[in-house]
Amino acid sequence: MQSRLLKIIEEAERGRPMTVEEMTDIFATDDEDIRRTLFEVADRVRHKSVGDAVYLRALVEFSNHCRNNCSYCGIRPGNRQVKRYRMEPEEIVEALAVAHRLNIGTAVLQSGEDLWYDTGKIVWMIREIKERYGMAVTLSLGERSYEDYQAFREAGADRYLLRHETSDSELYARLHPGMTLERRLLCLRRLKELGYQTGSGNMVGLQGQTYLSLARDVELVRDMRLEMAGIGPFIPAEGTPLSDAECGTLDIVLREVALLRLNSPLLMIPATTAVATLDSEGRQQALQCGANILMPNFTPLRYRESYRLYAGKICINEGTEQGIEAISGILSSINRSVGKGPGHSLQTPGP
Ligand code: SAH
Repeated sequence: MQSRLLKIIEEAERGRPMTVEEMTDIFATDDEDIRRTLFEVADRVRHKSVGDAVYLRALVEFSNHCRNNCSYCGIRPGNRQVKRYRMEPEEIVEALAVAHRLNIGTAVLQSGEDLWYDTGKIVWMIREIKERYGMAVTLSLGERSYEDYQAFREAGADRYLLRHETSDSELYARLHPGMTLERRLLCLRRLKELGYQTGSGNMVGLQGQTYLSLARDVELVRDMRLEMAGIGPFIPAEGTPLSDAECGTLDIVLREVALLRLNSPLLMIPATTAVATLDSEGRQQALQCGANILMPNFTPLRYRESYRLYAGKICINEGTEQGIEAISGILSSINRSVGKGPGHSLQTPGP
């Protein structure tokens, strides 16, 4: 078993994609040698395929209003303890001025699914960000109509993040009342078709999730030729039906990051905030087994406590400067540099 899995990892380094069964076995193994080899090989593949630069993405979480009631999410409408806020479009664009001054090449606009921001408001923000700062624009607004995706793209949006959350359609349906995995994947296909650099990803450690389904998560990202994937542990949120459930583990998150890197060498993979919340060394570790992106938070401090997707979320009381300092510390401790420019995906848009 051990030599078989080691051989599979070596072959992946030379470019052979893994089967779902092979990935499942790698998630499940308790062999320390295999785990260490997996991480070392993924780090090498990251170095060879996307280099040592870590690109920064300036995140603004601009509204916590949401029309969906996802059972894990701290800002679900069912959570009455949350103080709701919406930032004005001008305030959102203004919040990115600091990021621009710090030479960060990408703005990420994220919110709950909030249709108060109609097509015109989002289009206006995209144009303003481009005009004032010349930054690449990533949107993370959830499911919108094809017409909206098209209008945002025409206004200049470069990328879109929409996690598929889990590739297990029954688990997906249980966690997302009134929503389907099929519809989520349709949105992802449309985004790809419109020429967005498209990102998906999943949570790790959801109740009922299996290693087989995590292997399928990796396969989905590879087979859809997505440009980006964000992976984080599920962390329970107060005031939600899953508030007493267990967290996902750092170990399995790191294994998935490594498997994603081996199976999609050019993928842009963030070391996520959720990983940092679970473990103070989590981001360093993710960056050393495949990840190459960090997303410093530029949401004005007064709103941060209200965008609490899960308990203990870091950055809630930490100023932007502190966040940037923390990132500089992380990068120098692992001998990595900050990427310059927009940090676009190196993947060619393919079939
Ligand atoms: N409304 C947008 C943005 C969602 S919030 C959208 O639908 O894409 C961004 C991500 O936070 C989600 O995709 C989800 O994967 C993650 N998230 C939400 N609640 C979480 C929790 N309790 N633990 C870990 N991650 C969570």
